[in-house]
Amino acid sequence: MITPMRRNEYRIVTTDSEKQSNWRTEISEAFRTPLELLTYLGLVDSELGTKADSEQEFKMLVPRSFAAKMKAGDPNDPLLRQVLPTCQERETGEEFSKDPLEEWPDDQATEGLLQKYRGRALLMPTAACAINCRYCFRRHFPHAPPTKESLHKTLEAIRSDKTLKEIILSGGDPLILRDESLFSVIDTLSSIPHVKRIRIHTRIPTVLPSRITENFIDKLESHQAEIIMVTHINHPNELDAETDSVLRKLGQTGIQLLNQTVLLKGINDRTETLVELSEQLFSQGILPYYLHLSDKVEGTQHLCVSVETARKIFRGMLRELPGYLVPRLVAEEPGMSSKTLII
Ligand SMILES: *Cc1c(COP(=O)(O)O)cnc(C)c1O
Ligand code: SF4
Repeated sequence: MITPMRRNEYRIVTTDSEKQSNWRTEISEAFRTPLELLTYLGLVDSELGTKADSEQEFKMLVPRSFAAKMKAGDPNDPLLRQVLPTCQERETGEEFSKDPLEEWPDDQATEGLLQKYRGRALLMPTAACAINCRYCFRRHFPHAPPTKESLHKTLEAIRSDKTLKEIILSGGDPLILRDESLFSVIDTLSSIPHVKRIRIHTRIPTVLPSRITENFIDKLESHQAEIIMVTHINHPNELDAETDSVLRKLGQTGIQLLNQTVLLKGINDRTETLVELSEQLFSQGILPYYLHLSDKVEGTQHLCVSVETARKIFRGMLRELPGYLVPRLVAEEPGMSSKTLII
């Protein structure tokens, strides 16, 4: 087994195809039960240990490189809190539902394509992620992994809809796909004249940085399409020397890097934390884009921050940060023509 601390060593001596299999090996070696993760962090006998819940339908999945950024012995670690299933997920209030955004099935013109806003649509080329985040608004989403045929059909639907200027690859996490599959989708999209921009929404640069291989960087660099990558980073502790290195390489390919954050109770719901996040994102080459209020998804009530608290935190950020480091505070409401700006 390769420990996170030693990854830089093997990176120097392996060929690119070996590297590709290494990040896939990392996924197969990820922590998949609360007991394994809590043991690794020395927290089995803590109060948190008694709250962990291994019976959740939405399974735990935590790459070792992400777990390595957690502080051993700390039940309140903000990275741990994002990924550990607990029995609190069984407490659910009335306004919480499986599909608060009313995304399925009506919005899905074609399987794997979701259009809510004018000019842009989400394409979900995979249902899998490198990590399972407890607050995920798609945790109950019934999407099966697309087949080659269904993906082809979706791409043809995009080709015939000239109103679509931007396609957002989402999921799941599109970077979980092997380079061949991912770039075959990107190549097809960039061959469609009305598609001006391709946006990739991903959490992988901080949760599985080894995925950003030289091969991937080379492919991005040589690509003609306008590519925007929106990372999903919630806490400054997710950023370290390794993410700095991969994010810099991504930035040097010429793509635009933006970040979205979900506001989470007990994890990043303090002005200081988010100010620090914005500063660190910028120092690693990323501009803050959105700060989302979490959606009212069943099982996530204990992580939701109220609008009033969110406003207070946000006003603090406005006071502390230059304008370009302040993300837009937004919520998503079903039936609206864009995300709702909160000020
Ligand atoms: C958030 C989102 C988008 C992108 O919205 P932007 O405001 O352009 O970032 C597009 N489609 C769906 C369904 C979304 O949820
Ligand atoms: S990476 Fe994104 S889509 Fe995947 S579980 Fe986390 S929040 Fe959800």
